[in-house]
Amino acid sequence: MTNQRPTVRVIGTGGSIAGVGPNRLDFILYPEIGDHITIQQSLDRVPEIRDIAEVRSEDLVSVGSTAIGAAEWLGLTRRINEIFREEADVAGVVVTHGTATLEETSYFLHLTVKSSKPVVITGAMRPPTALSTDADLNLLDAVRTAACPDAAGLGVLTVLNNEIQSGRDVIKASTFRVETFRPNELGFLGYSDSDGKVVFYRAPIRRHTVDTPFLVDDVTSLPRVDIVYAYAGADGLLVDAVRNNGSDGLVLAGFGGGTFPPTVIDAAVKLVDDGVPVVLSTRSTAGRVVMTPKKEQQGFLVSDNLPPQKARILLMLGLTVTKDRQELQQLFYDY
Ligand code: ASP
Repeated sequence: MTNQRPTVRVIGTGGSIAGVGPNRLDFILYPEIGDHITIQQSLDRVPEIRDIAEVRSEDLVSVGSTAIGAAEWLGLTRRINEIFREEADVAGVVVTHGTATLEETSYFLHLTVKSSKPVVITGAMRPPTALSTDADLNLLDAVRTAACPDAAGLGVLTVLNNEIQSGRDVIKASTFRVETFRPNELGFLGYSDSDGKVVFYRAPIRRHTVDTPFLVDDVTSLPRVDIVYAYAGADGLLVDAVRNNGSDGLVLAGFGGGTFPPTVIDAAVKLVDDGVPVVLSTRSTAGRVVMTPKKEQQGFLVSDNLPPQKARILLMLGLTVTKDRQELQQLFYDY
C-alpha cells in the first residue's frame, strides 16, 4: 500500500500559508511581522497528506510574495525542471506561495516549466495561526491535485478554496475573501472536492509548458518591462520616465478596450519609435484588447485578454526569443 502512493515534491516560498500571527484573530498584521514556518512544519500540521502521497519537501525562499520577482521565478523554474529531469519517480510538484503575486508566478511557470507533469501552486488567505485558516486544506488539496494523473498536461494549476484554475487565467480578485482567486470570465477547470476527488471539466487551449519556446534554465536575468496605468487626465510623465530609464518594454493598462488619454499615447509612440515594444492592455478586469488599423500603424502591440501584470510576463519572456514586432504580437495570440 505504502509503496503505491505517488511521490509529490513540495517547494515552500513563504506567504500567508506559512505566516505566523500574534493571535487567532490576526488576519492582517502577520505579513508586517514577517515570520514564517517552514514547509515541513506546514506539512506536519496535516498528517492526512501522508495517506495521499509520499512527500519530499524543501524551502526555496521564505518571504512574503510581495518580495517575489524575476529572480525567484527563474529559481523556481530551474528547480522544478531539475526535479522532473533528475527524479523520475516524482508525479507532480506543489509550490506554496503568498497570494499577492501568486497569479504572476503561476503564469511565469505555466510558460517556462518543461514537463507535462502537474505543477500546482497554492497559498492561503488566512495564516495557519488564524481562526478558520485555509492553509491546511489548501495544502492538502494541492498535494492531492499534483498526485492526480488527470492533472497532467493542463499546464500550471492553482488550487485554493477547492477550486482548480489555470495559471494563465487566474487573478486575485478580492482583498480578504477565501474565494478571491477567479479566472475572469473564463471559468475554472475543476475541483479538489469535499469527497476527496479531483475532477476536471475543461482544459486550457492556449499553449503552455512543453509547447513554448521559453527556455530559461540558464537565464540569470530578464528584460525590464514596466507597467503604466491610465487614469482620467493622465499625461506622458510616467511613460517618459520609462523611456528615459531605457527599459526594454512597456505595458500600458488603458481604459476599457485599450484606449488612453492622447498625451499618454503621444509619449508611448515616441517609445515605439525608439524601437521599444509597447503592449496595450486594459485596466478593466476582463475582456480582450484588439488590434485596430491605427494601433497597427502606430506600432503598438495588443495584449489579447491578458491583464497588464500577465502581459508584462509574456513580453519579458518574448523578448528573450525575439525583438520582431509581428513575432511578439503572435505570442499574445498563442499563449
Ligand atoms: N502577504 C502575503 C503574501 O505573501 C499575502 C498572502 O499570502 O495572502 O503575498
